[in-house]
Amino acid sequence: MVAVSAYGAASADAPLAPLTIERRALGDTDVAIDILYCGVCHSDLHSARNEWGFASYPIVPGHEIVGRVSAVGAKVTAHKPGDMVGVGCLVDSCRTCEPCTEHEEQFCTEQTQTYNGVEKQTGRPTNGGYSKAIVVDAHFVLRIPAGLDPARAAPLLCAGITTYSPLRHWKVGPGQKVGVVGLGGLGHMAVKLAHAMGAHVVVFTTSPGKIADAKTLGADEVVVSTERAQMKAHANSFHLIINTAAASHDLEAYTRLLRRNGTMTLVGAPEHPHTGPNTFTLIMGRRSIAGSPIGGIAETQEMLDFCAAHGVASDIEVIAMADINAAYERMLKNDVRYRFVIDMSTLS
Ligand code: NAP
Ligand code: ZN
Ligand code: ZN
Repeated sequence: MVAVSAYGAASADAPLAPLTIERRALGDTDVAIDILYCGVCHSDLHSARNEWGFASYPIVPGHEIVGRVSAVGAKVTAHKPGDMVGVGCLVDSCRTCEPCTEHEEQFCTEQTQTYNGVEKQTGRPTNGGYSKAIVVDAHFVLRIPAGLDPARAAPLLCAGITTYSPLRHWKVGPGQKVGVVGLGGLGHMAVKLAHAMGAHVVVFTTSPGKIADAKTLGADEVVVSTERAQMKAHANSFHLIINTAAASHDLEAYTRLLRRNGTMTLVGAPEHPHTGPNTFTLIMGRRSIAGSPIGGIAETQEMLDFCAAHGVASDIEVIAMADINAAYERMLKNDVRYRFVIDMSTLS
């Protein structure tokens, strides 16, 4: 065991504060990583404050990790010391179930999440990327392509893959109209990725101050979702809507905007349930409401390579570790442009 500096919450109503955690000794298939950057996902906030009801404490959040390999176990061939690598929301899975063998570890019922999970190797709680170092099985370690800036790549490990995966699943491409609800961390990646895939992209925002940014990020049109006339103008027109909103709202307003056979996939996971949609709105257009969790490891590597090839990365605001509580408050005010990334050199 190695003692490592970290930041975490002692309870649901405690601010995040410094603490020391232990990382397991390097196993034969493990990779030890010195963490350089960690993105701040809204899921970190939901978890730290136990908004989903299954947090265990102390909790060390962070699942958008980029760092340098410091050591590898005897059986590791895919990574070597000095490599720039990433770790997302998963650090283990069973490897034998149907989803695992089909490279969709995100659906493995025995998966181990990067934090708030239980490490199979030790039986101890997993701790996330708000820390100086981590030890992860090589299968769950991603290569960061040379062309990607490490800090701007960090948010790809969750926000990137969580939006890339549904865009691929629903086969988005030229000729399709894609809506993105909420322009935060996930939303701004959905816009960049859907644009890079050739879709016509429409952003739905509650923040009129983000209209110009949305267009710069790649949106063809921007709708202020509180304006009824603007919403109505898009009725029956979307092939796919990716709904990233971190707060509950009425889904009916967006369901009506789907064309025949269109789908709205929920990726936002608010504390309280959404209302709607109306049953007849679904029936009359054979419309679907779906959900989608992160993505598999192979698909995450594919997404990183896609981003490097298309010049896509997250728009970030780099913060010091000690600024994390203020960053959470700004996130709750929809005031993120468009992902906070912690510079881990600021944690001593
Ligand atoms: P974020 O950066 O805080 O962005 C969320 C955005 O939602 C806000 O910027 C805001 O955009 C919009 N929003 C907030 N309140 C809203 C409301 N009442 N109605 C409509 N829109 C509202 O959060 P994030 O990191 O992107 O995460 C978004 C959600 O996805 C969180 O619930 C998170 O837990 C979840 N998540 C899910 C997965 C998955 O695997 N499915 C993975 C990661 C995260 P505007 O200002 O543009 O309105
Ligand atoms: Zn996340
Ligand atoms: Zn499995």
